[in-house]
Amino acid sequence: MERKIIHIDMDAFFVAVEQRDNPSLRGKPVVVGSPHKRGVISAASYEARKYGIFSAMPSIVAARKCKDLIFVPGRFHAYKEASEQIMQVFYEYTDQVEPLSLDEAYLDVTTNKMDNPSATNIAKEIKIRIKESTELTASAGVSFNKFLAKVGSDFNKPDGLCVITPAASTKFIEALKIEKFPGVGKVNARKLHDLGISTGKDLKKLTQESLINQFGKFGEYLFNMSHGIDNREVIAERIRKSIGAERTFGEDILDEAKLLESLNRIAEILDKRIKKSNSSGKTLTLKIKYFDFEITTRSKTVFYPISEINEVLALAQELFYTPKAPFKRVRLLGLSLSNLDNNEINIGDQLKLNFHELL
Ligand SMILES: [Mg+2]
Repeated sequence: MERKIIHIDMDAFFVAVEQRDNPSLRGKPVVVGSPHKRGVISAASYEARKYGIFSAMPSIVAARKCKDLIFVPGRFHAYKEASEQIMQVFYEYTDQVEPLSLDEAYLDVTTNKMDNPSATNIAKEIKIRIKESTELTASAGVSFNKFLAKVGSDFNKPDGLCVITPAASTKFIEALKIEKFPGVGKVNARKLHDLGISTGKDLKKLTQESLINQFGKFGEYLFNMSHGIDNREVIAERIRKSIGAERTFGEDILDEAKLLESLNRIAEILDKRIKKSNSSGKTLTLKIKYFDFEITTRSKTVFYPISEINEVLALAQELFYTPKAPFKRVRLLGLSLSNLDNNEINIGDQLKLNFHELL
């Protein structure tokens, strides 16, 4: 059976989070990293990329390329939070999720929780859902194997969607520059160019033997990719750590009744997801994000697995009022269930009560 693979990659992830949280950075050349002469850039905004600035570049080189370059320090917890929100979206569609980093994952949606036969439509929905929950954009590649899905997500960034059907794949690969093949770095690119190879089409002229002779194992990879052969499976993360649901409000809310009403709705969505995944868990966490981006999480661990809606509702409300109801305008409410199934109780989670985090 033909597989349906999606590769999702967030656009300029770290920097996009910074520009989201600090409007004065929007539209400007920004990098995440230290301006120190020994510093290295970990992400560059699209505006900075226009100056030829890219991640992994020494800060000193980047600063030379753009006089107005803005350096901001990394806030790993903010990236991790956005990453968790993205992963939650993925799990709404499939458990066959293979994260490659905080902002990137393969999904196998050949069969999926929505019974949606169109991987393209799933990718579109996922992009929308990511935008709703994180206010960030992602790019998606849709195809029948990992190689093409990954190339696809990079094809028309940012906010891109690229679908490569089996019928279109031969032409697509033939036109593909060898630099765009995942894993082809500068050294191999130069080596290939020296052999007169600059596209997938050129690559196909070489036999498997000659490619293996020149490049060893990598040659075999190049041969397979140039023929659209990639049987690598999407390897799901072994243990799912939490199930969650959350909602960002169009307008920040202070009204307690309104907040409780949405909390109940979020609890209902969470309950559906718990049932769908056939799990139960012992720790419920309420996340409150205020209008000023301050985030509070409140957790409670019980000694029996939570699996019923009334238990979720009761605990959620308890967390809502303990120590007290939100006292300033709320931007987002979220509930998540962790300590799933037979997972060992994590002492750390129990101690996390009223854990406070100021971004
Ligand atoms: Mg990315």
